[in-house]
Amino acid sequence: MSNSFEDALKSVRKSAQSELAQANTEAEVSQLTTDYLGRKGKLTSLLRDLRELPPEERPRAGEQANALKAELEGKIDNLRAHLREEAKQRTLSRERIDVTLPGTLLQQGRLHPITQVMAQMVDIFIRMGFQVAEGPQVELDYYNFEALNMPSDHPARDMHDTFYFSEEILLRTHTSPVQIRVMESQHPPIQIIAPGVVYRRDSDISHTPMFHQVEGLMVDEGISFAHLKGVLTFFVQEMFGKGTPLRFRPSFFPFTEPSAEVDIGCVICQGKGCRVCGGTGWLEILGAGMVDPDVFRIVGYDPEEVTGFAFGLGIERIAMLKFGINDIRLFFTNDLRFLRQF
Ligand SMILES: [Zn+2]
Repeated sequence: MSNSFEDALKSVRKSAQSELAQANTEAEVSQLTTDYLGRKGKLTSLLRDLRELPPEERPRAGEQANALKAELEGKIDNLRAHLREEAKQRTLSRERIDVTLPGTLLQQGRLHPITQVMAQMVDIFIRMGFQVAEGPQVELDYYNFEALNMPSDHPARDMHDTFYFSEEILLRTHTSPVQIRVMESQHPPIQIIAPGVVYRRDSDISHTPMFHQVEGLMVDEGISFAHLKGVLTFFVQEMFGKGTPLRFRPSFFPFTEPSAEVDIGCVICQGKGCRVCGGTGWLEILGAGMVDPDVFRIVGYDPEEVTGFAFGLGIERIAMLKFGINDIRLFFTNDLRFLRQF
C-alpha cells in the first residue's frame, strides 16, 4: 500500500484528535464535523482519493479509511453528548431552587382602628336588637337642623361649624338626620343605630374636619329613661369592661328632653384622677336623652302614644380612650407605622 495514503490518514487522524481535544462547544464540534466528514471534508476527500490507488491496495486502504471514519464519528458523537450533558448540568445548578431560603412575606392588610372600633360598637348594639340605618352625607338643612328642632335662628347651630354648599345643602354635622329619615318612612316600634361619617369645620388635637359617629334611636309605646340607661350601661360594660361605672349629668340638646351627658369612670386612671380626665376620674363619652315631642310631631308621630330615646357618640373619642391615643389627627394621616399597631 502506498505509504503516502497511510501517512495522509495518520496526519488526518492526528489533527482531528487534537482539534477534538480543544473543542468546547457544540458549535465547534459541528464545525469540526464539517471540516473532516463533510462533503468537502479532509477525510471525505481522502476516501475519494482511494480511486487513484492501485487496485490491490484499495481494500486495505479502504478498510483503514473507513475505520478512521467510524472512529471520528464515534468520538464526535461522544463529545457532543458530553457537551450537552455539561450544559444541562450548568443550567440545572444555575436554576436550582433552594427550598431552605426564607420566602417573600406578603404584607397582610388590616382594618383601620376606627373601622375596628365602629364594627365592635355596631356588633354590641346589634346584639341588643338594633338594626343599622344609613343616610346621605350630603344632607339638606331640613334634616340636619330644622327637623331636629333647630330652626334657622337656633343658637345651637353655632356649635356645629357647618360646611355649606348652599343655604339648603350641607355636609351633615351629625348622624341624627338619619333618625328623621327613618321615622319619616317607618312606623314605631323603631330600634336603629346609624353609624357614619360626619363633618365639621374644626381641626386641632381633638378635632378633625371629618369624623365618625354612632347614633341610636328607640321609639315605641312606653319607652322610658330606664331603657336608655339599661342600653347604655350594657354598651359601656361590653366596650370598656364589666364594672366600668357610668353616670348621667343633666344637659341640653335641642332634639331631646330631658337630655343628659354620660360619663364613664376614667379608663386610664380607674377614677383616681389623671391628665386625660382632668383629675376628675370621669370621661364624657356621649350625649343622650328622651326624644323631644316636637321632633315626633315633625315626623308625624303622636307624642301621646309613643316615647323614645336617642343617643350619639363619637367613634374617634372611644377609639382614643380604648387605645390610649392622645391626638385624633393620627387616625387620618395614613402613617403606616401608626396604623400597623392595630
Ligand atoms: Zn383619669
